[in-house]
This record gives sequence, structure tokens and C-alpha cells, in this order.
Amino acid sequence: MAKAKGDIIINIEKCKGCELCIEACPEDTLELSKKVNQKGYLYAVKVEDTCTGCTNCALVCPDGSITVYRKIVGKKKELITKITNVTSDMTLKVGK
Ligand code: SF4
Ligand code: SF4
Repeated sequence: MAKAKGDIIINIEKCKGCELCIEACPEDTLELSKKVNQKGYLYAVKVEDTCTGCTNCALVCPDGSITVYRKIVGKKKELITKITNVTSDMTLKVGK
């Protein structure tokens, strides 16, 4: 069976270091940085290559700082979630 592998990109200048994504990640992929961004906040960084692309981190981020990708082995990387400025209820379905 094809194996899914995830990846994320964090916009560190939008991150305020609230750590919600770190708490929400079931794979312990994220930690808080040791350095600060231009606004003076510690920011979330990927520290393990364990991401499955579950999208939890992007869903909980209040600043829309995380973009999630997922790659099925042998296929191209595919954009899964980019969530910005959510102002009302939303439904997100991930997977096939
Ligand atoms: S997509 Fe899921 S596994 Fe990947 S970093 Fe975010 S919460 Fe963790
Ligand atoms: S949830 Fe968003 S703002 Fe909070 S630490 Fe993670 S990336 Fe930064």
C-alpha cells in the first residue's frame, strides 16, 4: 500500500510562539525555536522528520502560519492545507 508522508512549511515571521501546534502534533514533529523572529517571538520549528500531514497543526494555528503538504511515495508532493484568516465555521476533509 502507498505510504503517505507529510511535510510542513512554517511562516516564522507570522508565528507568535503560542505552542498550540506543538501540543496538537501527535508525531512530536515540532518544537519552539531557540531564536526569536523579527517581532521578538520564539517560533515553531520542525525538529523531527515524522510528519504525516495530518493537518492538526495548521488547523489550530491562530495565525495561519502553517502550510501542510503530503506526498504519497512515488508521487508528486501535493498541497493539503493552507488555512488563513478563518472567520467562521469550516469543514476540512483530508484523505481519499
Ligand atoms: S501535519 Fe500533523 S504530523 Fe505534521 S507537523 Fe502538523 S500536526 Fe504534526
Ligand atoms: S500555532 Fe501558529 S502561532 Fe502558535 S506556535 Fe504554532 S505556528 Fe506559531
